[in-house]
Amino acid sequence: MSDFREGCYYAIVEAESALPYSLRSAMPTERKYREEIVRYGRMLHERGFVAAMDGNLSVRLKGGRVLVTPTCLSKGAMRPADMVIVDMQGHRVSGHRNVTSEIGMHLLIYATRPDVQAIVHAHPPTATGFAAAGVPLTEPLVCEVVMGLGCIPLARYGTPGTSELAQTLEPYVPNYDAILMSNHGVVTYGDTLEHAYMKMETVEHFAQIALVTHLLGRQQPLKQVEIEKLLLARTKYFGAKLASSMPMPGIPQKVS
Ligand SMILES: [Zn+2]
Repeated sequence: MSDFREGCYYAIVEAESALPYSLRSAMPTERKYREEIVRYGRMLHERGFVAAMDGNLSVRLKGGRVLVTPTCLSKGAMRPADMVIVDMQGHRVSGHRNVTSEIGMHLLIYATRPDVQAIVHAHPPTATGFAAAGVPLTEPLVCEVVMGLGCIPLARYGTPGTSELAQTLEPYVPNYDAILMSNHGVVTYGDTLEHAYMKMETVEHFAQIALVTHLLGRQQPLKQVEIEKLLLARTKYFGAKLASSMPMPGIPQKVS
């Protein structure tokens, strides 16, 4: 089983006979998703986007089920067999561990966005710093972010592990693919776990750049005409509008 901890993805597939029974009997697609959650969980941990047992990841399965990380486990030390499967009400249907206490947030996003197949929640330090300062990442400062992700709003605070947390996200989920959670962290989602994870990296990287502009004492947002060109390019390259565009300069930046 040490292969799992060493990140040897292909070795895992070949070492099928060494897997626990529950994994051997799992559908190939589900096994792939379990391995992907292990991989991206480890990447979250390696990049310092989570500490201790923070964060959670999930993938939508067929038949109204969700494959999700358990509670009380480092995201850097998970194995494929540690995952939990829940139904859309959050009831555990498979797995030996207890599901993450933030499952309500995942279920809300899946219920609201049929296009979303995977979700990543973490506490990357710079973006979470913005979330703790009450500052959303909505200034159009970097062309790639305007084109690839768009506006990253700030949801008000909700107590983790309660339905209040999901309620705070509800207004933003339909139109945004990444949300800052006040005094808490970040949630990102997409059509694959890879894309959901990449959005988390983009949010943290953009937060670092935004922080430097604050340290320099000035910002130079892209002009509206340039933003419109980027949105046109986004439609061309991605086929459709993926998320809300960065608001134009002058839009209020503080959370209401
Ligand atoms: Zn959290």
